[in-house]
Amino acid sequence: MNIIAIMGPHGAWHKDQPVKELEAALLQQRFKIIWPQNSADLIKLVEQNPRICGVIFDWDEYGVELCSDINQLNEYLPLYAFINTHSTLDVSVYDLRMALWFFEYSLGTAEDIATRIGQYTREYLDNITPPFTRALFSYVKEGKYTFCTPGHMAGTAYQKSPVGCLFYDFFGGNTLKADVSISVTELGSLLDHSGPHLEAEEYIARTFGAEQSYMVTNGTSTSNKIVGMYAAPAGSTLLIDRNCHKSLAHLLMMSDVVPLWLKPTRNALGILGGIPRREFSHESIQQKVAETQGAQWPVHAVITNSTYDGLLYNTTWIKETLDVPSIHFDSAWVPYTQFHPIYDGKSGMSGGRVPGKVFFETQSTHKMLAALSQASLIHIKGDYDEETFNEAFMMHTSTSPSYPIVASIETAAAMLRGNPGKRLINRSVERALHFRKEVQRLREESDGWFFDIWQPETVEHAECWPVAPGEEWHGFSDADTDHMFLDPVKVTILTPGMDEQGTMSDTGIPAALVAKFLDERGVVVEKTGPYNLLFLFSIGIDKTRAMSLLRGLTEFKRAFDLNLRVKNMLPDLYAEDPDFYRNMRIQDLAQGIHQLIRQHQLSHLMLRAFDVLPEMKMTPHQAWQRQIKGEVETVELEQLVGRISANMILPYPPGVPLLMPGEMIAEESRAVLDFLLMLCSIGRHYPGFETDIHGAKRGDDGVYRVRVLKDA
Ligand SMILES: *Cc1c(COP(=O)(O)O)cnc(C)c1O
Repeated sequence: MNIIAIMGPHGAWHKDQPVKELEAALLQQRFKIIWPQNSADLIKLVEQNPRICGVIFDWDEYGVELCSDINQLNEYLPLYAFINTHSTLDVSVYDLRMALWFFEYSLGTAEDIATRIGQYTREYLDNITPPFTRALFSYVKEGKYTFCTPGHMAGTAYQKSPVGCLFYDFFGGNTLKADVSISVTELGSLLDHSGPHLEAEEYIARTFGAEQSYMVTNGTSTSNKIVGMYAAPAGSTLLIDRNCHKSLAHLLMMSDVVPLWLKPTRNALGILGGIPRREFSHESIQQKVAETQGAQWPVHAVITNSTYDGLLYNTTWIKETLDVPSIHFDSAWVPYTQFHPIYDGKSGMSGGRVPGKVFFETQSTHKMLAALSQASLIHIKGDYDEETFNEAFMMHTSTSPSYPIVASIETAAAMLRGNPGKRLINRSVERALHFRKEVQRLREESDGWFFDIWQPETVEHAECWPVAPGEEWHGFSDADTDHMFLDPVKVTILTPGMDEQGTMSDTGIPAALVAKFLDERGVVVEKTGPYNLLFLFSIGIDKTRAMSLLRGLTEFKRAFDLNLRVKNMLPDLYAEDPDFYRNMRIQDLAQGIHQLIRQHQLSHLMLRAFDVLPEMKMTPHQAWQRQIKGEVETVELEQLVGRISANMILPYPPGVPLLMPGEMIAEESRAVLDFLLMLCSIGRHYPGFETDIHGAKRGDDGVYRVRVLKDA
C-alpha cells in the first residue's frame, strides 16, 4: 500500500479545489491519502510510517524548511510542491539535491499530475530497491515457467498434495516463487560473481565501507571457515582468540595448522574483558611460538570483535600494531558498526588500508539486522588473491544457494543506507540507552534490592564506554587504556549475589532464575551468567519489547519479595519435577542455588578454569584425524584428567570453549574439570538447572560423558 501525505489540514487549504481534484485522481491510482495537520505532525508520520512514499505541500507555506526536515529522515522521499505564479524559489533548493518536483495550482491538471506522481513513486521504490532484489522481484513478477530445480516448481508441486497445500498456504506463493534455481541466467551467479549477484556484492561493499564483500548463505560459521581456509595454509601457524566461536574450532580441525591462543581476561562476574594489549605484542607472540611444538611466526590472526559480552576493540590500534599480515575480525554480533559514529575505529572495516596487511570482517547479517537466518557477509580490505579466495568461497558454498537469503542480505544492506539507515541504528542505540536509564531510575526508587546494569556510574548520552583502568564498575583490575569499549546496545543486567570483584553476599538471586521467569513470559535472554543476563537491543526491538522486559523485571522483583511458591511463579520449572518443587518457595530456591555457588566458590573456580589453558598434546587437526580413524572412546567427565579430548568442550553458559580437540587437562589445569563438575552439580541438585555442555553427553543416569582419544 503506497501512501501519499497531503499537508492539510483537510479541507482548509486555501486553494482547495485543485487539491481536492488531485486527491480524487490519486485515489483512482490506488494511493492511500493521509492528511497531516502541520509540519510536526507530518514529520512524526514520516518517521513512523515507512510506507509513505510522497509528500504534497504548498511551497509558499512550508518551503525549504519542511524539505530539509524531511530530508533528514529520508533523503530519497519524493516531495511535491504546489506553487503559484508569484512563488519565489530560493537557489538553495537546488543545493539540497532532493527529489523535489513543482506543480502549479490550476484546475483540470489533476489527472496529469497524479500520473506523474505515480511514475515518480515507482522510480522512488525502484531506487531504494537494491540490484539483486530488484532483479529477483521482476523475475518473479514475470512468472516465467521453468523446467529446472527446485522441484517444487515455484510452489506448484506443493499444491498437488494435501500436506503440501498446508505448507504452501503457510509460506505463501511469493516465498516459493522467489526460491529460484541457479540456472536462471538473468539473475547471474553467486559462485561466479556475475550479473545482479555481482552488482549486489559491489553495492554491499560500498555500503559497509569494504573494498570487496562476499555474500554467504550458510551463516558466519561458513564465512569464518572460508576466510581461514584462504588465509592459513597447511603447516602454518595462526593466532586465535581463545574465546572464539565453535566454527573456528571446526576450522582448526579441518585445516592442518598450529593454533596459538590469544588469552582474554575475564572478571569475577564471568564477563569477558577481551584480549589485553600485552597479548598482541611481539614478545608475547615470540614466547608462544617458542613454547609451542611446530609453531612458526603466525601468518593470520582471528579476533572476536565484539566479545560475547559486547566489548569492542580499538581495531585501529590492533591493525597497526599486530605484526601479522592477515587479520580476521569475527564480528558476527556487530554488523551495524559502519552506521553510527560511536563505532568509529572499533570495527574491521573502519579506517583505511595498512600497507602489507589484509583485513577480513565476517558478520552474521541475520543476528542483529533484518535478514533471514544464515545470512552472512565477508568484507575485505587490502590486497588478496581474488581467484584463490573464490576457490575457498566455492569450497563451502552450495551450488544451489537460496536466493531469498541472498536478497535478504542485500536488503539488510539497503535498509542501512542514507538517513533512514542512520536513524534505524540510532534508534536502537537510543532505545538501549533509555532502557539503561530506566533500570537505573527504578533501582534508585526501589525499596530494597533491584537489578543493576553493568555500565559506568553515569550514562548520559550514547557512546561506547571505555573499560578504563582505575574505574571500579567493570571489575577488570588490569584494564588497558583506550583498548576496550562497551557497546551500548549490549545490555548486561546484574542480579544480587556477587559484586564485580567477586565478593559474594549472604543472600543472592542467581540469574538463571530470572532467565526462567522471563522465558515463561516470552522474553528470551541471550546469555545467562551466574549473576548476569545479557540482552541485545537489535533494530527489531521496539518500545513494546523494551517495556515488556522492564515489566518482566519489576514483576520478578514483586513476586520474589512476596516469596511466592515456585509452583505459581515458575510453573514450567515446577512441571519438571513437581515432587521436588512441591512446597518450595522462590526465596528458598534462590538461596539454595546461591549457597551451592558460594560453597563451590564459583567465581574463583571460573577464573581459574579459564586462566590456565589445558595442555595442547596435538593440534585439533591431528586429533580429528585420530577420531575419524576410530581411535576414540567414551569416558565419564570425572575421568578426563590425563586424557586427550577428542572434541571441543563448551559449557553453555558461558558459551566459550574450555577444552579444544587435542588438549589434555593436567593437574595444573584441573580447575577446568572442577568448574565443569560444579556446573553439573547444580543441575543434579536442582532439576531444570542442568547445564548444557556441548561436547559432553548427559546420560539417563545423569552422568556426563565425553569422548577422548584412546591411549596409543
Ligand atoms: C553466531 C556466531 C558465529 C556463527 O554465525 P552463524 O551466522 O550463526 O553461522 C560466528 N562467530 C561468532 C562470534 C558468533 O557469535
